[in-house]
Amino acid sequence: MTLILDGTIAAASIRMHIATDVAEYKKKGHRPPCLIAILVGEDGASMTYVGAKKIACEEVGFIGEVRRFGADISETELINEIQKINLDDSIDGLIVQLPLPKHISEEKITQTILPQKDVDGFHDINMGKLAKGAADGVKPATPYGITLLMKHYGIDVYGKHIVVIGRSNIVGRPMSMLLSAAAPYGNATVTLCHSRTKELSSFTKMADILVVALGKPGFITAEMVKDGAVIIDVGTTRVVDASRKSGWRLQGDVDFDSVFDKVSAITPVPKGVGPMTITGLMMNTLEVYKAKFV
Ligand code: NAP
Repeated sequence: MTLILDGTIAAASIRMHIATDVAEYKKKGHRPPCLIAILVGEDGASMTYVGAKKIACEEVGFIGEVRRFGADISETELINEIQKINLDDSIDGLIVQLPLPKHISEEKITQTILPQKDVDGFHDINMGKLAKGAADGVKPATPYGITLLMKHYGIDVYGKHIVVIGRSNIVGRPMSMLLSAAAPYGNATVTLCHSRTKELSSFTKMADILVVALGKPGFITAEMVKDGAVIIDVGTTRVVDASRKSGWRLQGDVDFDSVFDKVSAITPVPKGVGPMTITGLMMNTLEVYKAKFV
């Protein structure tokens, strides 16, 4: 029988553990962890994501604050705001919701965040630590969340052949580094595929675990996967759906119905990887907070 790797169930369980940890720190007289999200402009999807992160903070006992700025804020003004947060010891984590307006360099903003507060894990220092296999860096939230999801469902990665499709800096590449690290939840043999990979199916068919992050709805079909494989579908693309009030629904990169009977476990879209990205963010915030008391 195929196991559904339900991100909402795993997230609820992990967030309960986070809440218990936070309550213990508070009992010892410490302030709660604090996560700030900066939101620039009025992008609807960004407002939804930031709102979900704030709710998750409240659930686990963090202070979660959204600092909103108009789309006309200058790059220098935004950098000044980030630097103020960098210097504020009462704030543990900072995320700047992307995308930003075109006149602001996302790269410059990402690199302005203090690496110790970069709970999205996008700063070069944190990516560098990940590449070196160092244990003390902040891991990018989506790949970290995926490892938490697989761990929750008892999926072992040690010595497995894992094929990752997509080499973006927020998903595919850090995913490949995390899973191949000589770390407790690592030691997999990882193949990283991308749009220039020749004969992609010859790699996907060899995968014990297939992580798909390319943003092409329904791209992976049954004939591309091995019997009994574990499938992690990161893709979330809005596709037209006239039956919905909104007129759209989210679709993953995997043709769920066609692969379902062939694989041993699979993430649904939505409610698979999505909730785990926020859980990765919460775990990162907890970890940077706890590191202050060691
Ligand atoms: P991205 O930056 O656009 O990267 C896509 C990657 O897929 C690129 O490396 C690209 O290769 C590769 N690719 C494109 N077409 C391909 C093909 N035909 N064969 C093999 N590889 C191909 O995307 P991303 O930011 O990583 O996001 C990927 C998907 O995950 C999107 O749907 C996004 O919405 C979703 N996502 C979900 C979450 C979540 O929390 N659920 C978080 C982040 C992202 P090249 O490098 O050669 O161009």
